[in-house]
This record gives sequence, C-alpha cells and structure tokens, in this order.
Amino acid sequence: MSATLNTTATAAAADSDTCCAGPLPVLGRDVTVPLVTGGEVPYAALDYAASAPALQRVWDDVAAYAPYYGSVHRGAGYLSQLSTDLFEQSRATVAAFLDCRPSDQVVFTRSTTDSLNLLARALPAGCRVFVFETEHHASLLPWRDADVSYLDAPRTPAEAVATLERALADREPHGPALVCVTGASNVTGELWPVRELAAAAHAHGARVVLDAAQLAPHHPVSVRDLDVDWVAFSGHKLYAPFGSGVLAGRADWLQEAEPYLAGGGASRTVARHADGGVDVDWHTTAARHEAGSPNVIGVYAIASACKALTEAGFDELVAREQHLIARVRAGLAEVPGVRVLSLFGDDAPRVGVISFVVDGWNSSHFAAALSAEYGIGVRDGLFCAHPLVRTLLGSAPQEPGECGSPEATAPGAPSLNAIRVSFGAGTPDEHVDRFVGAVRELVADGAKWRYHQEDGRCVPASR
Ligand code: PMP
Repeated sequence: MSATLNTTATAAAADSDTCCAGPLPVLGRDVTVPLVTGGEVPYAALDYAASAPALQRVWDDVAAYAPYYGSVHRGAGYLSQLSTDLFEQSRATVAAFLDCRPSDQVVFTRSTTDSLNLLARALPAGCRVFVFETEHHASLLPWRDADVSYLDAPRTPAEAVATLERALADREPHGPALVCVTGASNVTGELWPVRELAAAAHAHGARVVLDAAQLAPHHPVSVRDLDVDWVAFSGHKLYAPFGSGVLAGRADWLQEAEPYLAGGGASRTVARHADGGVDVDWHTTAARHEAGSPNVIGVYAIASACKALTEAGFDELVAREQHLIARVRAGLAEVPGVRVLSLFGDDAPRVGVISFVVDGWNSSHFAAALSAEYGIGVRDGLFCAHPLVRTLLGSAPQEPGECGSPEATAPGAPSLNAIRVSFGAGTPDEHVDRFVGAVRELVADGAKWRYHQEDGRCVPASR
C-alpha cells in the first residue's frame, strides 16, 4: 500500500527581504510581545540554537496528516497502515537527507542527547572514546562509563586534527574506538574539520559519530562525503519541534547491542522459558532501539523539514545565513566593549550562532534587557558547554554577581557567562538589525529599566 496525503505546503520563501530568496515562513512571525517600557513589538526569535521555530511547511504537513494519524506497525486498520507507511517513508527521507550508505540504519530517538546516549550504550566492550572538552554536554557526558579520553580545546581546526592524531597515537586503540565530534559549535557557531577528523580517526581504526545538532539545520550533511560512521541530530533545532531525533549510521554496533529500551516493538518474539524465565528474540533492524509506541508525528515532522530544506536549497539557505552573520558580526564589531567568543578566529567558517560578552555587564542582565526592552529573545549562560565557555571566558566556575552591579563584571574582569544570539532559515533581516541596534543602544545608554535577581537570573523589577 502506498500512502499519499494532500498537503498545502509551500516550501519556498514568501516574505520579501534584502538578501537572496528571503526567510522561509515559520510559525510565530506575527507574534507580538509586551515591552516593560510600554507597547508591543513583533517578537524577534534569536535563539534558534536552542530550538528553532517550526517551519510553516512542517506545521502544514503535520496538520494535513493529523486526521489520518494511527498506530504504527501492527495495526490492521487502513490508517494504521497509512501511518506505518509514512513512518517508514520518513526513515527513507532522513536517510536521503543525510546521504547515508545503503547499509546504514536510521533510528528514531527523542533528540540528539537521546541518540548519543543510545550509541554510548551500544559501544562494544573495551571501546575507547575520544572527545574534545569543547563539546556540548550531550556529546561530552554520555561516555563517562567508557574508557574515555577528553582532549584539550584546540585553537585552530588544524590543531584539532593534530590533537586527535596525537591522542590516538598515544593511546593506540587495539580494539574498538570511537571519536565524537561536533559539526558546528553551539557556542561559537564555528565549523569543525569533520572530514579531516574522521580521516584521522579511521587511520587509527576508530569510528566517528558526528553531533550534527547545530550543523544539520544550517548545512547539508553527507554521511558519505564526511565519511562519518554515525550522525545525530534533533528535530526541534531543524524546524520540527515535535519531540523526535535521529541516530543514523552503521548497523553493526547497534544490532549487536542490548536494546536501548526493553519492550514491545523491539522484540520479534518472546516466549516463556522452560525454567520459568523469558526468552526474547530482539529485532536487528532499527526497531531494536525503538521500543514502545513511536512518535509518528515527530518523525513525520522531521521528514517534512528535511524535504522543505532540501527543496528550498541549501545553497540559498547558506547564502542568506552568511549575509545575516556578516551583518551581526559587523554590527557587534563596532560596539565598544563587546567581545565575540571564538575558538578558531575571525576567518573560521561558521553558522548563525554567535556568543559574546559586554564589558561591565552581567550577561543575564544584558539578555534580560534585550527581551524586556526590545522584544528580542536570546540566551545567556554557559550553553550546556561549560568547559568550552569557561575556556573562552577565562573564568573559573562561580556564581555571577547581582544584576547591574559593577563588581559583577568590572571592565576587564572575566565574564562569568555569555550571551548567545542565533538565527537561521526563518530569520528576517529586521530581527538581526533590531538586535544590533539594541546592543549599540544598551552599551551607549544603559538599560532603561531596573532589574533584579530571581532564582539566579535577572528579571525586570516591577515598578
Ligand atoms: N549538541 C549540540 C551541539 C547542541 O547544541 C545541543 C542542544 N543545544 C545538543 C547536542 C543537544 O540537543 P538536544 O537538547 O536536542 O538533545
């Protein structure tokens, strides 16, 4: 049976703008938010690196499918079969999006964190793991039960490759080994030399998992071209915020591992054993690690996003995003006391994720003022990459001071956390221009409102 659905999706850009084809339509474009100083403005969502807004196309596809929703896999009814077809077609769509090898498996998970924890549970006995300290905690922490080496932050892409080569040579793996690398940093937006790191890993017999959480929404990811063994990403950063993620890649370690979750769907047959126990014959396909009723809507949404981005064309999307990056970086460079955080330097290729600190400002205070006085949503903190951000800030772990207190961030003193602005396919120029203007104004004139601390964060004080 082949499932078909009519959708009213519009993949191409609708809004007009000054660069390229304009932003892709996303939900929330018309949402306005109140300002503490009075009035309302359209919300400028500049926290895509945390979660991107849903693409209108994804929303439309999900809405068109919703009435046909049914349980997948063993349902006998028409809608169950249609849903099963869509679920499995979504797997094929994701495999094509990632340019997987024919023998690769696409496992649907909840998120990148879930995907990497699944792989960590599937490591063969004695597996050595190599991971840079600069990783997001989702890539840094799942390997703690393995024989893991944490590698120091490199200051150039070439140094990253040299550091990995040295670590592999020093601790030459004689059995299975895994290198975990990020595609694009969630702090600096900088691209990592994935292909070169994969080549170094493979030369030493190690495998590679790519954390593409920040790469896949911004760049085409080809498993074959990058020659990585697995790739992980999250739907909610890829404009499909319905609770699904992906782990795609080599089948062997996954097939040999204990199922990630024990339960229905992962098991082919279960029989009571003569001695009173239970015998299980587990699937060897992706289903082995997808026990329980799968998130059909989430998976369908990811596939819809993959199609929408592919149809919009990554060449266009990248060109537009580079235009926005250039605008933000040029704007920030002109504001005195603003320091953009970077590991690899100004010329490093990057995606639309930029972290910075402002001399004399507690970052939480600055981010709160951007929100309350300008309707701009950014993020402040250490971005679940504490070792990297502290390395970049040159600061030790400690609590930030009071909002706006001079001793919190005296000029020249290391900041204790940072501000991150991030954007993507749905961002209009106006949002980044308003952001740059707001940074300029806050630095020049200070905040117009008073802020105080609540649960460690700065919030506007009620007057
Ligand atoms: N890796 C990177 C580089 C990330 O930026 C994030 C999310 N900020 C993750 C992994 C974890 O993604 P999720 O929260 O969707 O599991």
